[in-house]
Amino acid sequence: MPQALLIIICAAIVIGVFLFMEGVAWFAHKYIMHGFLWSWHRSHHKHHNHTLERNDLFALVFSIPCISLFYYSTLVVYNPYLIAVSIGILCYGLFYMVFHDIIVHQRVKWWPRNRSKYLNRMIKAHHIHHKKHTKEDCEAFGFLYAPKKFENRDIKQG
Ligand SMILES: [Zn+2]
Ligand SMILES: [Zn+2]
Repeated sequence: MPQALLIIICAAIVIGVFLFMEGVAWFAHKYIMHGFLWSWHRSHHKHHNHTLERNDLFALVFSIPCISLFYYSTLVVYNPYLIAVSIGILCYGLFYMVFHDIIVHQRVKWWPRNRSKYLNRMIKAHHIHHKKHTKEDCEAFGFLYAPKKFENRDIKQG
């Protein structure tokens, strides 16, 4: 296969996996974190002054398949397509961390001054998610995808 074609295919895989991961994150948030593993996620819906939350275990657990895939696709078999999948997952994890843990929850104090309309909508949607502190009744389970309906919602109304 010509090198250029391989690069294009791998780039498409990275982007595809990145988008797919938002679906995975939405599903995990709605059905696992607000489901049978609420005992971990509850710590993230509570006000506290600890540095770490039990919820951080999810980041640890979710990193294992990504690290394993990187290991497998580089050191066990050499497979550029699988490496592209690993990179897609890694990129999603990095974007998620910067958006969710830094910009929204300010675990590192950084607040981008020039925020696009869409970024503001993402932030708002996640604040709406956090209006409720219960396992049930929450909405806006996505992270990087915020539907337009959250644009004009008043956060105070939840
Ligand atoms: Zn939640
Ligand atoms: Zn959050």
